[in-house]
Amino acid sequence: MIVVMKADLPAQSPELARLIALAESFPGVSTSVHRIEGRTRSLTEVYLLGPTHALPSRPFEEFECVEKVVRITQKYKFIGRHEALDAVGFEHNGVSISQDSFHLFPGVCAVDTRENLDSMFRSIAAAGIVTTRAGAYKPRTSPYDFQGHGGGCLPWVFELAGKHGIRIISMEVTHESHIDEILSALREAGNPTAVMIQIGTRNAQNFELLKAVGQQTEMPVLFKRGMGITLEESLNACEYIASGGNRRIVFCLRGVKSHLGEPHRNFVDFAQVSVIRRQTRLPVCIDPSHSVGRRNAAPDGLMDIFHVTAQGVIAGANMVLVDFHPHPETALCDGPQALKLEELPGFIEDTSICRAAYLERTKRAALRAARV
Ligand code: PEP
Ligand code: MN
Repeated sequence: MIVVMKADLPAQSPELARLIALAESFPGVSTSVHRIEGRTRSLTEVYLLGPTHALPSRPFEEFECVEKVVRITQKYKFIGRHEALDAVGFEHNGVSISQDSFHLFPGVCAVDTRENLDSMFRSIAAAGIVTTRAGAYKPRTSPYDFQGHGGGCLPWVFELAGKHGIRIISMEVTHESHIDEILSALREAGNPTAVMIQIGTRNAQNFELLKAVGQQTEMPVLFKRGMGITLEESLNACEYIASGGNRRIVFCLRGVKSHLGEPHRNFVDFAQVSVIRRQTRLPVCIDPSHSVGRRNAAPDGLMDIFHVTAQGVIAGANMVLVDFHPHPETALCDGPQALKLEELPGFIEDTSICRAAYLERTKRAALRAARV
């Protein structure tokens, strides 16, 4: 059972303390308080855990500070909507990410040279973008392929991010020790930027890693769906992160492995953007680069990467993680799918058209609903 408090309830509210005491007076029931600090308001939810099936809602609804009491009917206890809950977003280093926001995260798949990263960051900053991707720890199919520079590159990656005003870098971790490596490097650099931890598709069911990223709350988590498991299994994996204590999660679609998707690298799954928005409270990201995997263009002059991005954005995606590289032909990882820096303005223009179309679609849907 979840008790949703009215907005902006102070954390020290005596009424909140009385409600928690009431909940915990029932045998075996414990509570977990979840506070979401948004830019304009804060939201408090009290999760009642344990044998709550027989608990009456009425005594909780009678508190002045309570907005509603929601019974958990589905399996995704922390990330699910349970038919009555609003989506929740979060703010990280001044950037707010929710089911209402829209952000591009263009950047390199893998950090290679200082010069390349400097050009990458300069281009996105010039376009007014403060969010990017940059991989230091790369999970590669072959042990002989470039594995990323690892922790050694973090000092200069963070220094360059600070220089260009980058506020969030999405960075994959493949081992729990990377979490502390990233946090210490950020601290040592004087926190010039912030990181969103990325869980790659290959680790989507690495439950120990999921627990580790769930137990830290300094960094939000971008979870990439498992490439060979069902959506339900991927959502349960996110529940591992959320139940550990970290509810600042973004769910990323990146295609699934199936030869039916050929000639794309993966079968593009962006038709599920609306499903995740409906079933969960999480913002949804799409990754057109790892889905499509190549730079082929249609006869209309638009690359498949642009077309699939459009499909996800016009359906309400909140984030686009997309590979760019100053010199894709020499990139040490995933060069064939990287867009070139000179293609960034076109990509921004194309996604803005789709975002505006999405907002217009929802506005008109609301008008139609109001008429019936
Ligand atoms: C990546 O984003 O760098 C990556 C390895 O993606 P995925 O885990 O989706 O393959
Ligand atoms: Mn990649």
